[in-house]
Amino acid sequence: MSGTAPWPRVIVHADLDAFFAAAEILRRPELRGKPVIVGGRPGGRGVVAAASYEARAYGVRSAMPIAQAARLCPHAVFLPGDHAYYRELSERFRAVLERFTPLVEMVSVDEAYLDLSHAEHLVGPPLAAARAIKRQVREELGLTVSLGVATSRLVAKIASDLDKPDGLRLVEPGTEAATLAPLPVGRMPGIGPKSVERLQRIGVTTLGGLARMPVAVLQPIFGRRAAEVIDRARGIDPRPVNPAREPAKSVGRERTFSQDLTDPREIERVLYQLAERAGRDLRREGLHGRVVAVKLRYRDFETVGRQRRLPQPTSDHQEIAAVATALVARLLEARRAPVRLLGVRVAALSPAAIQLTMFGDDPLRRHRLNHALDDLAARYGAGLVVPGRVMGGA
Ligand SMILES: [Mg+2]
Repeated sequence: MSGTAPWPRVIVHADLDAFFAAAEILRRPELRGKPVIVGGRPGGRGVVAAASYEARAYGVRSAMPIAQAARLCPHAVFLPGDHAYYRELSERFRAVLERFTPLVEMVSVDEAYLDLSHAEHLVGPPLAAARAIKRQVREELGLTVSLGVATSRLVAKIASDLDKPDGLRLVEPGTEAATLAPLPVGRMPGIGPKSVERLQRIGVTTLGGLARMPVAVLQPIFGRRAAEVIDRARGIDPRPVNPAREPAKSVGRERTFSQDLTDPREIERVLYQLAERAGRDLRREGLHGRVVAVKLRYRDFETVGRQRRLPQPTSDHQEIAAVATALVARLLEARRAPVRLLGVRVAALSPAAIQLTMFGDDPLRRHRLNHALDDLAARYGAGLVVPGRVMGGA
């Protein structure tokens, strides 16, 4: 029976292994094979953000106080964490996943759902596609990822955890309930320690046991969610993968300077970088914006802003930068004083796909070029690909 049933949906849950710790080992290979704990120094009051598998062998777990982790594993290497670096790796992770489908929903920096339904002609059968994802993540990021492949988010999520680290677990259609049945109830997202305890008191310890319970018995524990919890325990979960879970109202970046800016060329360079990031965010979300706004804070904290409506929506950072530069120039004409903070924001957003076909070939080419630039930025860091003019050329 295995492998013969058709897949109504192909959902992949991808979860990088011990992400922050693995990221640190990636740039400090001498840490490989050692217990590494990210989250703070042993004397501090922080909690463990991530622990390498070598540290986990000593009982160290995420969210544990650092002091406790230090008692369990005093010889571990303790690191404070570098979220800008993790963010950058996360973007590269997303970029690899988006080669397989545009239907990628990032649920945290190191975790995503992909919907590969109806994509077999592009990415191959589910198992082959999953192997390709693992290989590309390893080759391009140097990190291992654990995958669960199933017909729903829930089963994919549970499956990705079963063979960690570097796992790959495929749950064939029709075998969902049987796969979940022997697992402890606490494996299901949303069933916390308190519910586990209450279920134990009524004799329910496995997801199979939970799946067989009448709704009325579970109502005191789960309230209105009782019926849904039973469905989930049977592996039924219709929730879609939604790449734009929280549609943004605007995108933008701002930066405060350690030394106030006075040089107009320096100001222009910063505006360009902020516009570049805003443009990248727009393109990543598949959006265009119609209003460009700037914010400027002077040394004495006086804060001023200006905005302009564009003739056409855009995600093109060169256009955003040009408008932002003109707006800031007007502000500086009104008051020329050292600048403490600059911000660029794009608002009045709409889906990009509609705009693309409306304005002929040129915006489309620009759009493709910008995507290529995003790839380069993801690989080599933002700000490397800057037109000559901004670099101080003609
Ligand atoms: Mg993870």
